[in-house]
Amino acid sequence: MRKIEGNGIRNIIHTNICIIFMILAIFILTIVYKYITLKKEIQASLQTSVNVEELYNTTNKEEANIKEEENRKEKDIDSTTSDWELLLVNKNHKVPKGYVVELEEVETVHQVDKRIAEPLKQMLSDARKEGLSPLICSSYRTNAKQQKLYNNKVKEYKRWGRSSEEAEELASYWVAIPGTGEHETGLAVDIVSENYQILDERQEHTDVQKWLMENSYKYGFALRYPTDKKDITMINYEPWHYRYVGIDNATYMKEHNMCLEEYIDYLKQFEEEEYEEIV
Ligand SMILES: [Zn+2]
Repeated sequence: MRKIEGNGIRNIIHTNICIIFMILAIFILTIVYKYITLKKEIQASLQTSVNVEELYNTTNKEEANIKEEENRKEKDIDSTTSDWELLLVNKNHKVPKGYVVELEEVETVHQVDKRIAEPLKQMLSDARKEGLSPLICSSYRTNAKQQKLYNNKVKEYKRWGRSSEEAEELASYWVAIPGTGEHETGLAVDIVSENYQILDERQEHTDVQKWLMENSYKYGFALRYPTDKKDITMINYEPWHYRYVGIDNATYMKEHNMCLEEYIDYLKQFEEEEYEEIV
């Protein structure tokens, strides 16, 4: 009877141990399963972040390529800096040595480069059709004439008590130093209103200047020394000095608010790129 009882107890213990082992096994298996699942999830998430990063980099690269492409396409004009219309003459760029101008008379007493005579006549004629009275007050100047004008301006400053050096510097903002003035090229004219012939900033308020500033580009002329470009042109605001640059160039310069120096710099960047490609 006791033996039977003893066997019963042993069986119960055995069964309990089995149950405990089974629970433990299930527990361990669950942990192992969880671990494997978690590991997979981590790997998947790492992979996703790598993919996202790759995508991000690719998108950035694509955007940069598009931007580069856009910049490249920005040269939407055929002009080059060696075109005669774009001859740059300023304090740093003198009239080329031996530069020859073939002149043509306009408005009886003036002369300009014969290549700009027709568009100039057309512009003045169209302005007159609008009831305006434009008047050319300066056109082609010889180097000697430029020298005379410059000397007079220097003298004027000296009379006001400036030293020679100061007078020359100040005069150069009003009258180009001989050899650095556009009038010597025959490509520039000063136009005023017959009703107001003083060369000062008030010239911009005349109907003639308002019309010219709005329309001169259609004939290939650009206002050469705008008030907001003094730092670049190194010449004071001259709302009467028009320079022939050709219709396409004048249109581009007006649309993009560029003075001649800026426009030439803009064209140069493409030429430098082309040069680098050739080299
Ligand atoms: Zn001028």
